[in-house]
Amino acid sequence: ENYNAVLAENRKMFNEIQDLKGNIRVYCRIRPFLPGQTEKQTIIELIGEDGELVIANPSKQGKEAHRLFKFNKILGPASTQAEVFSDVQPLVRSVLDGYNVCIFAYGQTGSGKTYTMSGPYTATKENWGVNYRALNDLFDISQSRRSFIMYEIGVQIVEIYNEQVRDLLSSDAVPDASMQPVKSTSDVLELMDIGLRNRAVGATALNERSSRSHSVVTIHVGGRDLKTGVILHGNLHLVDLAGSERVDRSEVTGDRLKEAQHINKSLSALGDVIFALSKKNPHVPYRNSKLTQVLQSSLGGQAKTVMFVQINPDVSSYSESLSTLKFAERVSGVELGAARSSK
Ligand code: ADP
Repeated sequence: ENYNAVLAENRKMFNEIQDLKGNIRVYCRIRPFLPGQTEKQTIIELIGEDGELVIANPSKQGKEAHRLFKFNKILGPASTQAEVFSDVQPLVRSVLDGYNVCIFAYGQTGSGKTYTMSGPYTATKENWGVNYRALNDLFDISQSRRSFIMYEIGVQIVEIYNEQVRDLLSSDAVPDASMQPVKSTSDVLELMDIGLRNRAVGATALNERSSRSHSVVTIHVGGRDLKTGVILHGNLHLVDLAGSERVDRSEVTGDRLKEAQHINKSLSALGDVIFALSKKNPHVPYRNSKLTQVLQSSLGGQAKTVMFVQINPDVSSYSESLSTLKFAERVSGVELGAARSSK
């Protein structure tokens, strides 16, 4: 296989995706009801062909009750991990051609962010999430190109908690996290495992803590064209954000309140950055949070950004889902606003 052909093929796929809408794509993923989940009334009224989603407010009737959103694509409750990955695969591959890409999952705790980004790490790959699949794919493609291009791949894993960046591969608080070179998917899986274990250190309950911090896996790719000596660099940020749920200020104090404020601040800062980019504003406010500083190289410029908006379809989550969808609508730069009945 010849490099130019591979490149041309990738570029073609990539341009197709890029044409969808600028550099920011928003995919909405609705998680299925889980076995044992008691209340089973869904807020989802309609999933349209073209990225349209209509949700229903359980406490209203008729026209009033419905609201339409439009994203690049809706991944319904039956969507598989493989389908989800196929929507970002061209972007992931473009990192090997020197592009910077950021993929993140946004939503309230329990909406499926970790499932989408990591999935259960089991022996059977069927349920693997975006990050394991991305790494696998990057290694496969880099191997298939090895006769004409030499790649080096490195991984960094950090957690951002209360505006502090912690290196999960060395368990230190750091200005610059360590980058570990990797030679195979199994090297990476090993590192991810270390990262996860470090994430649990000092946390009373892993789930509690991990839902209140952002985790960022960064894959650095360096490539050298063996014939021309041309060097390229690309990086891929895979981000599992802290839960976006609003915390009732009257109910929390102390550490919890501080955490909630930090999460709020960083998620709004991320929203503001993406909004500024989608509006092509000359000033992009990267400096307002650690999260946006860490992700800066893959937000804006030539970089491509994908946001998975995660939705829990249960009626009990209606108001959180609505605010998640509004956040996504704002950052995607398409605000339809008016309610529309699906009937
Ligand atoms: P979050 O990271 O947003 O807090 P999780 O990814 O932990 O949410 O998902 C909450 C629960 O729902 C987990 O038990 C997870 O396995 C399950 N889940 C989420 N999305 C799916 C899905 N698409 N298919 C099957 N189970 C899912």
